[in-house]
Amino acid sequence: MNNRELIDKLNKEKSLLFSEWEQLLGTFNEDDAKYSSQIARTISVDKFGKKIFFRGIVEFTNYCKNDCYYCGIRCSNKNAVRYRLSKEDILICCEEGYKYGYRTFVLQGGEDNHYTDDMMVDIISEIHKRFPDCAITLSIGEKERKSYQKFFDAGATRYLLRHETANEEHYRKLHPEKLSLKHRMNCLKDLKEIGYQTGCGCMVGTPFQEVKHLCEDMMYMSEFKPEMIGIGPFIPHKDTPFRDYPCGSVEMTLFLLSLCRIMLPDVLLPATTALGTARGDGRKLGVLCGANVIMPNLSPIAVRKNYMLYDNKAISGEDAGENLKVLQDHMSDIGYEIVIDRGDYKK
Ligand code: SAH
Repeated sequence: MNNRELIDKLNKEKSLLFSEWEQLLGTFNEDDAKYSSQIARTISVDKFGKKIFFRGIVEFTNYCKNDCYYCGIRCSNKNAVRYRLSKEDILICCEEGYKYGYRTFVLQGGEDNHYTDDMMVDIISEIHKRFPDCAITLSIGEKERKSYQKFFDAGATRYLLRHETANEEHYRKLHPEKLSLKHRMNCLKDLKEIGYQTGCGCMVGTPFQEVKHLCEDMMYMSEFKPEMIGIGPFIPHKDTPFRDYPCGSVEMTLFLLSLCRIMLPDVLLPATTALGTARGDGRKLGVLCGANVIMPNLSPIAVRKNYMLYDNKAISGEDAGENLKVLQDHMSDIGYEIVIDRGDYKK
């Protein structure tokens, strides 16, 4: 089969064999990318119209006990200026966001044990109580199942936990010994079983990544069937061991986005901040490849510059939560609009 036929097969059967993924991701050209983006876009316009959901990210702590080699807020980075937001700070972010039209709040942070389960439950319950028409998404890493359950019971209904890479050996090269892919995937399983709309995903172009690893990512996602997928290019951070490695490929990221849309037509698929950082018009291109979510930053302006997962992370323009007009303008450039909506997963 040629690559177009493989894309058609994916569209029809929603899965490919490993050898077929290897061919597709290993040999695709510009025409193949165009072809898959057209199919992906048709699917997303069919499902969602030309409407983009926006979610406000509140980056509430950049303390992290982990030491992932790619990440700017890893615990060994002594140059990171650390901060934590209080419950009141977080609520102010949500209140502002609500006024602008946000109906999903994403609480993201490093793995920071300062926030006990009880504190998180308190924060989640309060947001849930004050903004009952909003969805609460968590992105706070690996926890015990019983903690995930408590957060769910308190009102969080979505969880983002990228698997980062589905290949064991590659995972080892990106993370210190203490972390394991098995554990992370177990967390993902727990989250889904509890009933969260669950998001996994990977970075594109991390050091030591080979095409076969991305094939494993696609196969993992086709099996796990996440409700959300986060995919963005790796971008080096100057204070990490990976400082001298190049950025991941924007073309590969866009191709994978379109293939994810084709494989999982209902999936909530953001055009990520990293994609917009790697290339100025990255997010517009992401939308044109089937992405239907954008996640601007609702963190207090004073701390935004400190939540630097990678160099040059955008904190102004359409990335700034308060600048929805800029985001709307960018989307209308390509004939799309942003909509005030919780934007839940619908089968
Ligand atoms: N502590 C949480 C949130 C992590 S930050 C957790 O463990 O899930 C969110 C995502 O940013 C990560 O999952 C990772 O995929 C991405 N990220 C981190 N460093 C990055 C880098 N240098 N380039 C691109 N993406 C990065």
